[in-house]
Amino acid sequence: MPGPWSVESLRKAIAERQTTATAEAERCLERIAADPTHAYLTVSAERARAQAAKIDALAEKGAPLPPLAGVTVAVKDIFSTRGVRTTCGSRVLENYIPPYDATVVQRIEAAGAVIVGKANCDEFAMGSSTENSGFGPTRNPRALDRVPGGSSGGSAAAVAGELAIAALGSDTGGSIRQPAAFCGIVGLLPTYGRVSRFGLAAFASSLDHPGPMARSARDAAHLLQAIAGADALDATSAREPVPDYVAALEQPLMPLRLGVPREVFGNPGIDPGVNETVQAALARLERAGAELVPISMPTSPAAIAVYYVLATAEASSNLARYDGVRYGHRAQAGSQPLTLGEMYRRTRDEGFGAEVKRRILLGTYVLSAGYYDAYYRKAQQVRTLIAREFAAAFAQVDLICTPTTPTTAFRLGEKSANPLELYLADIFTVPADLAGVPAISVPCGTSQGLPVGLQFVAPAFSEAKLLAVAHQFEQRTGA
Ligand code: GLN
Repeated sequence: MPGPWSVESLRKAIAERQTTATAEAERCLERIAADPTHAYLTVSAERARAQAAKIDALAEKGAPLPPLAGVTVAVKDIFSTRGVRTTCGSRVLENYIPPYDATVVQRIEAAGAVIVGKANCDEFAMGSSTENSGFGPTRNPRALDRVPGGSSGGSAAAVAGELAIAALGSDTGGSIRQPAAFCGIVGLLPTYGRVSRFGLAAFASSLDHPGPMARSARDAAHLLQAIAGADALDATSAREPVPDYVAALEQPLMPLRLGVPREVFGNPGIDPGVNETVQAALARLERAGAELVPISMPTSPAAIAVYYVLATAEASSNLARYDGVRYGHRAQAGSQPLTLGEMYRRTRDEGFGAEVKRRILLGTYVLSAGYYDAYYRKAQQVRTLIAREFAAAFAQVDLICTPTTPTTAFRLGEKSANPLELYLADIFTVPADLAGVPAISVPCGTSQGLPVGLQFVAPAFSEAKLLAVAHQFEQRTGA
């Protein structure tokens, strides 16, 4: 069972021949076969077995093992995997088998990870519950009648349900941190450009961030170590040197100035149980020596509105490529042949779900000639203000601390009737995506038995500090 293993304990056990990568991969595949949550869309058993055999051959020779040796990983189905079906949670790509690997996939495999399958997600990462998947929702392993969050809900459910040791997710407006919070695991949003987007199907290119999800900050640090760094295949990837994230976990953090934004904690939408749990976590941080500094981020309440203009605008352009010619599904002619226009229209009508269509329509609207200045340009301007607000806050404090989400995991179907209500699930996560700064969600307790996530946000390229704070918080609380 992958349950007790951490990245380090598994690597050690394989090196000492207490277990083999093959045995652990097989156990993981058996658990996936009995998964009650529908965390995976595709199981890559063959690829997993071949990789595990390579690791075992190294161990047999007594050769040094790579850092992620034998670590079973769930890859969100939005990352391209060579020879393994990649759907992006969409019917439009139901049978798409890519000829190449995403950079993050190639890098974790080069570091020894065993990719066991492709994790379910909201269609093209648009959603907060995984209910927008074209292949049925995923359930929360902590409460099967509830959603795991989204859009990286399958990744979070796989890690929390012990169907993988760690996972890769992507975060455009909260999709790593929100499901991590709902499932009681750690999720890290890296700085924009820290991790290559090559092979990540584009939703909103200026906001898409690949990142790690794991059961501890230490495991997340190992994953980030493997995937971070410049990539010639992504022009927006950063050349900033990659520090040793694992070594930095124990760095002394005190004195630590923690900014607590008034606008967040005064938000009437926060569930009282979440508020109580987060306040108790803040009190623990204070006892550990952190100084809580009230700050104000007056533009942050506009973040959701700004996000739904910019993300939909970018999506409307990025999703134009799914036309039945280049990728995946193609509408078939009936008794009458289809014209080219009809073929495009029917392909997209059949292939895309309701939320994706809504986003394409919204995005096309805000970019259209008469509305570009009123919506798109205005949103860009407010995005700049939000980024400046973070910069100003970080002149005063080291990190900003908030609940990751206003509520705990909700019931399946509870928010499907009203998309706007679902959009609010990301109210505290979206600002960091807009500013391009890193953030982490770490479990901080429960409310009525459901996990609550605590979010820390940091200046650009401060992932080492975020992981250290999360790690030391875990050590103190035994979370
Ligand atoms: N829930 C948000 C949306 O639907 C964010 C999704 C994401 O981060 N990919 O767009």
